[in-house]
Amino acid sequence: MRKLAQMAIVRNTKSSRILMDVFKNTQRALSVVDLVSRFKEEMNKTTIYRILEKLEKQGFVHSFTGLDGLKWYAKCHDCDSHKHIDAHPHFQCQSCQKIDCLSESISIPKLEGRKVDFAQVLLVGKCGDCTSN
Ligand SMILES: [Zn+2]
Ligand SMILES: [Zn+2]
Repeated sequence: MRKLAQMAIVRNTKSSRILMDVFKNTQRALSVVDLVSRFKEEMNKTTIYRILEKLEKQGFVHSFTGLDGLKWYAKCHDCDSHKHIDAHPHFQCQSCQKIDCLSESISIPKLEGRKVDFAQVLLVGKCGDCTSN
């Protein structure tokens, strides 16, 4: 029993390392569906979901919803587990579906009697690759 649990921990550590490397090596956002199909040999869906949730809590990645209603994740730059700074917009290309984090920040209006926890702005259009073709 104990041995089985230890094996699961080793597997999870290895899986989180694989996922962290993927995010380190790209500026792009990745959808959960993409990640699940890319790593279906190495880990199951539940493991991927659980690791992504953990990495988000740690401030390593942030998540948002894309055009298709899918959940996307991208690497955070200045976040940690205490402070998530996600107030940047994302851009999704309608032709190739790719999403980038934009470095421009958006200003969140002060709302009377309401507390804003996060903002989600998705700009939709055509990316550089798709407009030049
Ligand atoms: Zn495109
Ligand atoms: Zn982002």
